[in-house]
Amino acid sequence: MKISKVGFVVLLLLCIASFSFAQNYFPDIPGSKTLICDLHMHTVFSDGLVWPTVRVDEAAREGLDAIALSDHIEYQPHKGDLPTNHNRPFEVAKQGAREKNILLIKAAEITRDTPPGHYNALYLDDIDLLDTPTFLEVIENANQQKAFVFWNHHAWKGEKRGRWMDVQTTMYTKKWLHGMEVANGGSYYPNAHQWCLEKNLTMLGNSDIHHPSIDYHYTAEKHRTLTLVFAAEQTVESIKEALFAGRTAVWHKNRLIGRAEYLKPLFDRCVTVSKPHYVNRNNIAFFEVANNALIDLELKRIGTSGPASITLPARSTMIARVKLSDDRKAVKLSYTVRDFLIAPEKGLPVEFTISVKEK
Ligand SMILES: [Zn+2]
Ligand SMILES: [Zn+2]
Repeated sequence: MKISKVGFVVLLLLCIASFSFAQNYFPDIPGSKTLICDLHMHTVFSDGLVWPTVRVDEAAREGLDAIALSDHIEYQPHKGDLPTNHNRPFEVAKQGAREKNILLIKAAEITRDTPPGHYNALYLDDIDLLDTPTFLEVIENANQQKAFVFWNHHAWKGEKRGRWMDVQTTMYTKKWLHGMEVANGGSYYPNAHQWCLEKNLTMLGNSDIHHPSIDYHYTAEKHRTLTLVFAAEQTVESIKEALFAGRTAVWHKNRLIGRAEYLKPLFDRCVTVSKPHYVNRNNIAFFEVANNALIDLELKRIGTSGPASITLPARSTMIARVKLSDDRKAVKLSYTVRDFLIAPEKGLPVEFTISVKEK
């Protein structure tokens, strides 16, 4: 088949248009893929300002792996123009998500006064069944659909109204509540962080975006609030398994929030410390420290050796130095990573061994 010049240009444009936008913001950890997910967002079907397919386009442009459109069940200010149709946003976005390799999770936001507040239910089959007045019946129904249920932005009306009450205890003891948003948009909730640790709930961080997403060139400081899910495979089922197992971290501003058991292997993949490339006659060893993730890192010394602090900008390599003993024995460096938060105000402790000898 002969292709005209115009045809060739059109073909070229089509190829460019279908380019992948995959980004490596954070590396995988041993045994799991690190999937970048936004599990809370809105469309015109509730109080959002974009059509569902736009959410898929934005996710593709920003290099996300999975999204959940979670329109409010009880709040639809555009109802006059767009009649209530809870299952429709997922249906509308489905095909585009397949084409763009975005994993799409069917979801809704259960939206009540605070308390009890707002809850996202992911992996729903039929959202219409959740459109009933009694709050706990709705939560029970979501669980009958085997949904993953998490408490959104618990303190958005203040800590007092967002405190843990009997209704949450009921949900928790019945195993109807599986996680909490530790961060939502620009807000971080230390209490939610603490409760997740104490009660073994999954930590989530989401954009809760209502307007169009415009900033798609991410930096360490400027990106959506997102959930990192450590999943065996890049599938919606695998994400569900990981969510129920609590294998997540929250990427909020310039920090990662999560459990030490996941932040530690992630840190080990993000930061590499090389063997010294030079030792001078005063036994000062020079070595490289590299950070391949999209997060600026500040390490504070907790031991006695090494620099008092190490600043590692996102995706950079720097030279550090340490004084060795006269016999040049291996030296252990102990630090806390300020930007990897394993509990409120508590950074991840890490250790490096600097050795000039072969292992
Ligand atoms: Zn909400
Ligand atoms: Zn919301």
